Amino acid sequence: MVDKKKPIDTKLIHSGEPKPKILGSVSMPIFQSSTFESAGETSYHDVRYIRLNNTPNQIVLHKKLASIENGEDAIVTASGMAAISTTLYTLLSQGDHFLAQDSLYGGTHTLMSKDFPRRGITFDFIDGNKPETWKSAVKENTRLIYVETMSNPLLQVADLEAIVQFAKNNNLISIIDNTFASPVNFRPIEWGFDISIHSGSKYLNGHSDIVAGAVIGSHDIIDKIKFHLDHYGGSLDPHACFLLHRGMKTLSLRIERQNENALKISRFLELHPKVSKVNYPGLVSHPNYQTATSLFDGFGGMMSFVVEGTVQNSDDFISNLALPIDAPSLGGVDSLITRPAVSSHIGMTQKERERVGISENLIRFSVGIESPDDLIDDIEQSLSKI
Ligand code: PLP
Repeated sequence: MVDKKKPIDTKLIHSGEPKPKILGSVSMPIFQSSTFESAGETSYHDVRYIRLNNTPNQIVLHKKLASIENGEDAIVTASGMAAISTTLYTLLSQGDHFLAQDSLYGGTHTLMSKDFPRRGITFDFIDGNKPETWKSAVKENTRLIYVETMSNPLLQVADLEAIVQFAKNNNLISIIDNTFASPVNFRPIEWGFDISIHSGSKYLNGHSDIVAGAVIGSHDIIDKIKFHLDHYGGSLDPHACFLLHRGMKTLSLRIERQNENALKISRFLELHPKVSKVNYPGLVSHPNYQTATSLFDGFGGMMSFVVEGTVQNSDDFISNLALPIDAPSLGGVDSLITRPAVSSHIGMTQKERERVGISENLIRFSVGIESPDDLIDDIEQSLSKI
């Protein structure tokens, strides 16, 4: 039985922690040991070894992650892409087909479009907001459906309740990349998704100092994913586990601030004469505002927008900023800003980007926890120069 009642704030601090504390240590110690003295394990997958994903720093995270998203079980991985690729390769075999939302993180899009066909796995992209078109894409060999909570970088919010229902009706496994929302703003398992995936490099860790991933789901699914992860080798090392665990303790506080900052900044940008478009699901003007309001506890710290003018104008705007750092990745305490066409979505062709609505001058903004007024002043001064 999952315990939905305990607020996430308390679970982030207390769930999964060793009891009693190890030698009284309030902070979870780092077990910097690749292997452990045998305790009579009888199966290869239970032999205690970092690659086999069963050492103390990994186990604490598995329990905490499962608890905060109300899943039965969880597993951490060496990166978000290790979580995505291991999950998909665990559930799909040669000859299988799946459905995916058409606008996704560039790395996921490239994995699907460039790697899967070589392995005899096919897929079709679907528009997450046109449920009436999904049925015709289902084939006899369709196994699963894959979406993002808020798509990277356009912040589209698919009809997630319809996705869950559609998956149930058609016997598909439903998978959602919940990185952008974080478990504070959305908990997919509560809404009926089978699997929730995170790039732990982003909000979960929150300090832009590690790369990590996580998968949350039923015992049965996580056991299967662990079996394959044990062989693929994409396991999280103890020091990264420690940093991820430490970062998660302040997740709720950070996300609350990032929700507030992003809402304030998106409203400022929307009214600015030099900004032609703002994608943020907390804006009433966002096409999926109603869906976002009904599903999420907050709208997150990510947005994208278009500055009037050329690509050069967008680049000048970014380089004239004093506070946000021109860098890929997202979800940390420092504001980061980037042009997806040359960073997160560089693996896609310009045509592929255009097809899903990612223009060359689109700017993606990961709002940090700085003062929102300082960020707005900085944006204002930079816009005034173009
Ligand atoms: N999912 C989303 C939504 C992302 O934005 C990213 C990376 O930017 C990933 C997954 C991949 O994560 P990682 O870089 O940790 O492999």
